[in-house]
Amino acid sequence: MPRAKQLQRADAAERKNVEAALRESEERFRRTFELAGSGLAHVDLDGRFIRVNRRLCEMFGYSEAELVGMLVKDLSHPEDRDAVDERRKKLITGEVETLRLEKRYLRKDGATLWMNVAIAMERDAAGRPLYAVSVLDDITARKHAEEALRESEARYRSTFELAGSGIAHIGLDRKFIRANRRLCEILGYPEHELVGKTGRQISHPDDLDVINAQRKRLYAGEIDHVRLEKRYLRKDGSTVWVAFSMVLERDAEGRPAYEIAIFDDITERKRAERALRESEERFRSLTQLSSDWYWEQDETFALRFMSQRMGEKTGLAASAFIGRKRWDQPALNLGDEDWARHRAQLERREPFREFEMERANPAGGTRWVSVTGEPVYDENGKFRGYRGVGSDVTERKRAEAELHRAHDELAKKAEELERSNAELEQFAYVASHDLQEPLRMVSSYTQLLARRYKDQLPAEAQEFMHFTVDGAARMKQLIEDLLAYSRVGTKGKELVPVSLEAPLKRALTNLRTAIEESGATVSADALPTVDADEVQLAQVFQNLIGNALKFRGKAAPRIHVGAAEQAGEWQISIADNGIGIEPQYFERIFMLFQRLHAMGEYPGTGIGLAICKKVAERHGGRIWVSSTPGAGSTFHFTLPKKEFP
Ligand code: ADP
Repeated sequence: MPRAKQLQRADAAERKNVEAALRESEERFRRTFELAGSGLAHVDLDGRFIRVNRRLCEMFGYSEAELVGMLVKDLSHPEDRDAVDERRKKLITGEVETLRLEKRYLRKDGATLWMNVAIAMERDAAGRPLYAVSVLDDITARKHAEEALRESEARYRSTFELAGSGIAHIGLDRKFIRANRRLCEILGYPEHELVGKTGRQISHPDDLDVINAQRKRLYAGEIDHVRLEKRYLRKDGSTVWVAFSMVLERDAEGRPAYEIAIFDDITERKRAERALRESEERFRSLTQLSSDWYWEQDETFALRFMSQRMGEKTGLAASAFIGRKRWDQPALNLGDEDWARHRAQLERREPFREFEMERANPAGGTRWVSVTGEPVYDENGKFRGYRGVGSDVTERKRAEAELHRAHDELAKKAEELERSNAELEQFAYVASHDLQEPLRMVSSYTQLLARRYKDQLPAEAQEFMHFTVDGAARMKQLIEDLLAYSRVGTKGKELVPVSLEAPLKRALTNLRTAIEESGATVSADALPTVDADEVQLAQVFQNLIGNALKFRGKAAPRIHVGAAEQAGEWQISIADNGIGIEPQYFERIFMLFQRLHAMGEYPGTGIGLAICKKVAERHGGRIWVSSTPGAGSTFHFTLPKKEFP
């Protein structure tokens, strides 16, 4: 066989072998291509699919026929459409061997697909680019999981940071790992100072180990959370009360991993609780120490609460009253009308003071109870009933009743006295008035008898006649005096403002002759204005000054009228330098017809001072004398002071 032929045959065999090998390789590739778990595609330099495998079709939801010839870009998610452009150029030019990236595509049904894409360039023998080989793996599920994780992380972060409570993660070594903003505020430390510290380090000395026992049980799995209240010391040294709760996070194997603790600032609540406790203690001691008691009624006026003192004081058990209205236990001294009035007052929501009731006491007798109350409203302004205090006023009531009785008795006596005085005055007036007429007859006929038959009567009879005339004259004077005395009460004028200068002047005018004859000097202070009967006061001045002139000593009379201002009254005095009066007669001389001297010694009937006393008393004043026998007397009388506008 010629050499050439031999060669030709060998070539043919070789080519067949090669072809067979090629076919086999092609087949292997095709099978691999089709069966690959990843999506595979050949993409030409214009970016169109040349070849796609089944997996790719499944992933995108298109058929092979639809995909081949389609621009890859048209499948891209709008936001990732141009993501590869730049790098693809580098791939084509050979600057890079392969491209790896993650980007989004759109399935035929519009769903978004996340793909992990690896691209390499297929080149010819001369190194010219032929087409791109892309391997696509669907990572949508992973991406979603990552996204969800990220979101959950972010959610957790913001919850952690924005929570109204303080939150901390605490390591198994008890040290803070993380602390949110609120916790930093509550404890007064910046986060970086808190992290690494243990809770114990910043606990209040009195609350150091309060968590330990519960923590032990938490770790042992006996309880699933710790909850307690304790105090911490803030960085500035102040104390903060915290409601502390804690759970334990465990790892997949159930081993403790770290603690999650929640801190709530309850300082304000604790303060309010303490204030409430104090206020309650104050209330308790008040109701225990006070002899009064405290009560509360509900909105129907039924008694809801009554402090113990009530029972002790009145012998009435509080339980007998609880749930009952005040008028369900009628008081002895109150009738239906009184109760209706009290009830109406409560219905008008009026406060009331010292409402007094007399109640039968189980132990016998009765007790007086006084209650004072005010309406109560809740924070929404809704009426909730009444509250107030009560006291046992039995003693006071008894004293008051006694006082009333005594007062009434006194008033009755005064009334009787006044009536008998008036009767007496009336009698004196009528008697003296009616006596005047027969007396006048006696005296005029005796005088007539004396005149006509004087010469015919023996001397002795003449003397008797003289006594008769004299007696009649004296009796006339007495009757006139008595009339004058009784007129002070019956014929007095209304009291009007009077300057005492006027009655004094009137008296001095009447006494002018007597003053001149005795050579007396009369001086006077400035006198006030008072409510008075001017005529009667003129009579008082006249009687007193008249006496001072009459009961003179050897020296010429010196008389002074004084006026002294005192609390609520004026004291007027008439002082003389006369014979004076023995102290034992200081009272007697003011009585009717009482005199210290015989008629012949000093004239008079003893009516003057009695009239002065009656006038002073009618004016609401008093009269008395002070004297040194032989040196002089001073008569004093008072008159109530009056403010004149
Ligand atoms: P009378 O002047 O008519 O005797 P009075 O009632 O005026 O009646 O006085 C009663 C008595 O008081 C007088 O009798 C006199 O003894 C005494 N008396 C009154 N004023 C004075 C006086 N200024 N000095 C001394 N004695 C007096």
